[in-house]
Amino acid sequence: MSADKNLQDLVYKKTNFYKQLSVKEKKKVFDFAENYKVFLNECKTERECTSFAIMRAKEKGFKEYHFGEKLENGDKRYFINRDKGVTLFKIGNRPLETEGLRIVVAHIDAPRLDLKQLPIYESDGFCYLKTHYYGGIKKYQWTAIPLSLHGVVVLKDQSKVKINIGEKEDEPVFYISDILPHLARNQMSGKAQDIISGEQLNVIVGGIPLENAEGEQIKLNTLKLLKDFYGICEEDFISAELSITPAMKARDVGLDRPFIAGYGHDDRSCAYACLESMFEVENENTSICILVDKEEIGSEGNTGMKSKVYEDLIEEICFALKVNPRQVRGRSICLSCDVDGCYDPNFASVFEKRNSAIISCGATLIKYTGSGGKSGSSDASAETVGKVRALFKDSNVIWQTSELGKVDMGGGGTVAKFISQLNIDTVDLGVPVISMHSPYELISKADLYSVYMACLAFLK
Ligand code: MN
Ligand code: MN
Repeated sequence: MSADKNLQDLVYKKTNFYKQLSVKEKKKVFDFAENYKVFLNECKTERECTSFAIMRAKEKGFKEYHFGEKLENGDKRYFINRDKGVTLFKIGNRPLETEGLRIVVAHIDAPRLDLKQLPIYESDGFCYLKTHYYGGIKKYQWTAIPLSLHGVVVLKDQSKVKINIGEKEDEPVFYISDILPHLARNQMSGKAQDIISGEQLNVIVGGIPLENAEGEQIKLNTLKLLKDFYGICEEDFISAELSITPAMKARDVGLDRPFIAGYGHDDRSCAYACLESMFEVENENTSICILVDKEEIGSEGNTGMKSKVYEDLIEEICFALKVNPRQVRGRSICLSCDVDGCYDPNFASVFEKRNSAIISCGATLIKYTGSGGKSGSSDASAETVGKVRALFKDSNVIWQTSELGKVDMGGGGTVAKFISQLNIDTVDLGVPVISMHSPYELISKADLYSVYMACLAFLK
């Protein structure tokens, strides 16, 4: 028996997290999910995520930080990047030169439909907004569902108007049409990418003509309503960032409620786990939680992970603590928290099951991403994976390992490569997601909680 048992230990197994949970632990997992759903419902854009994170940070005693300020042991600070990203950090008492920083990162942007600069037009009884999609989407999935409008408009006088319409029960939603099946013979026999074109992602926003007006009366009525509610005119759309997002609320899925369907699990599930883990650990190490924008379009610009601002921030922290940033970066380690495609029995052919993330089997550790022969991946070293694995074992984190789908089936990347370029050991970890990048994605509460546990173990 014991010899046989020892032999069985040689075999690696994934186990469903729910199987291993006591009643008390299950309550923790479900309570965490309840709070996460509140976050998901309140945060449909990177700006809203940033505001939420700042609010939470303030509640937990964090204070805003600006470059050049003094820092000392025990400080809890947050740095805001243009209202579209926020970085929390805690100064620990262990020596930075030898211990480095513990960094967790997640992105807070998600695929959506951005409004064009001149979006409003009228046609045959409708007022529409034209959009330009952001991130990788299946365009046909965005038709015939309730949509909301989120964002900011900067007016001529430089004042900023926040817009959020379509989330409350008594507010109207917006809508993109699809064609009735009766007339869809050509549409349905074509390629999926042509079912709905980018220029057909036009959002219905109005339908009542303005009385006694000349020209496009429905468009004018819509503009009048916008003027009355928000004080904006058509030209103001040019200096705006407005996004159309799904208006659906996050909901439990299944009779036994193991899953959550919602918009933006990629990557707000990881962002929430990272953020909350920063509040729980009383760490000896100096830790940083970066919530970053623009991952879905290549981490570009001054709010994406490629921005110099993140390297600058690390340097500023080091200068304030009178340590050499180059030395510190070389000793630092980063968990790049981003979701992975979850093995879907309904679409088994695109996955290599042995090396795929299985639902409810815990946080998934992803050594490499990329496509076409790992191209574009930073490929974490065996040493880095080994170190993280040991941390997880010590803290009883439920985790698994995966890569994204079969070789040459497609692929994807994360912000990991931009952090590792800074001479920081980095490895990906995340929540497995079903129907990723759709308007209503699905995750397991067990996996969400596992990523939170993983971040806690890592920052400790
Ligand atoms: Mn992602
Ligand atoms: Mn994504």
